[in-house]
Amino acid sequence: MMIVKVGGADGNDMDNVLIDVAPRKDYVLVHGGSHEVDTLAEALGRPPKFLTSPSGVVSRYTDAQTMEVFTMALAGKLNTQIVARLQSMGARALGLSGADGGLLVGRRKEAVKAVDNGRTMLVRDDHSGTIEQVNVELLEVLLKNGYVPVICPPALTEQGELINTDADRVAAKIASALRAETLLLFTNVPGLLREPSDPSTLIKRVPRDQLDYFMNFAYGRMKKKLIAAKDALEAGVSRVVIASSNVEDPVERALSGLGTVIE
Ligand code: ADP
Repeated sequence: MMIVKVGGADGNDMDNVLIDVAPRKDYVLVHGGSHEVDTLAEALGRPPKFLTSPSGVVSRYTDAQTMEVFTMALAGKLNTQIVARLQSMGARALGLSGADGGLLVGRRKEAVKAVDNGRTMLVRDDHSGTIEQVNVELLEVLLKNGYVPVICPPALTEQGELINTDADRVAAKIASALRAETLLLFTNVPGLLREPSDPSTLIKRVPRDQLDYFMNFAYGRMKKKLIAAKDALEAGVSRVVIASSNVEDPVERALSGLGTVIE
């Protein structure tokens, strides 16, 4: 079993990944959609805002209105488009947000710590949260019958509230829950770079016991990928590869070790 996550930031070539996964079996696709959310937010006159945590992790500031935009862009538009594209290539793709069938159930954060101009503040109206349960049975029913689950945030709380949850973490949770062997995280850079602006500085191997050290090279959103990788490895996933979506046959290449392999 393999979990394939494709990024939604600008500069990703999602279609490369879809073409490469379409003929495969036994995988689950997870996607983000940050560029799509930003574009829709701008179009609706609500420019995106971001929060930086004290440890430097960047996440979207998701107030109630942004939560709606987030759901429209990801579950409404992008997820359906991905499913349509996979179907056109013969895959039995089936789209699910975390709300469908209670697939991803979690907890909303009561307050989020954010740093602004060197000062730490508490943001209380943020609708983001963490996943605590994955409905594995639902995924197993689908996989057993030859369907390819195509999954995106939001997740759901026990109270029925939608929450923004990071797609890399979603992929890691699903990989853990399904006891997947491999987790592939496709993004707009070749992998973890020693110097984020220089693609030639790719870190090819990260032994799992040195993940904390290598965390020092990651800024902003790359940090989330390493945290997701750590979660997955701790839960028994054998291998996580962070790789570029901007090459032909990205899945094939990532499986052969191109990118940053964490194991
Ligand atoms: P995606 O939507 O494709 O998952 P993200 O924007 O979430 O992409 O994460 C990838 C981004 O992380 C890169 O485009 C880069 O700007 C940033 N980044 C920060 N530190 C690093 C690093 N050390 N190596 C590579 N990318 C990094």
